[in-house]
Amino acid sequence: MTNFSQPTAMPTEIALDKWSDVGFEWQGIVPITQFERLADEIDSLGDDTLDISFALINKNGLLWLNYQIEATLLMPCQRCLTPMAINISNHYRLAILENEDKIRYLHAIEPDADYVLIDEICEPDSRKMLPVADLLEDELLLAIPLAPRHSDCELLTDSVGEVPNTPKENPFAMLEQLRGKL
Ligand SMILES: [Zn+2]
Repeated sequence: MTNFSQPTAMPTEIALDKWSDVGFEWQGIVPITQFERLADEIDSLGDDTLDISFALINKNGLLWLNYQIEATLLMPCQRCLTPMAINISNHYRLAILENEDKIRYLHAIEPDADYVLIDEICEPDSRKMLPVADLLEDELLLAIPLAPRHSDCELLTDSVGEVPNTPKENPFAMLEQLRGKL
């Protein structure tokens, strides 16, 4: 087990051969800049941080990766461009499966559980490194709103950046014209 008081950076990957039996835990504050894809995607304002804890544990004969995230990001509203707080606090849980044969076992004990296959997420070398930071970033990218807007945004008119609905051309109108010429 790691010591929670150590101000170490979040590991981006952990060695399964070393930690899968004994388990692994980490907790700390991570700047959003450590998640480049996420930071790019959300156009975040300021120095957002994420309070992250994760644990790799053995349970019911399977390996599980649990994440607990506490974070509020400041993102510009897509209408008025003033900052709005987006809470992305959540809990994520993934089963880490050695191969496809384990899927049936997983679904037997937890039909709704999410999972990843080690062979698909680890580099094909002798040492299996679990990309814990990338896996978390994938989950967060799915969780964030792509176009955040104040629910009571002051700019509710469609004058800013909104494409007016133009009626689509009716294909039958052309047929009608042709028919009229016959
Ligand atoms: Zn707004």
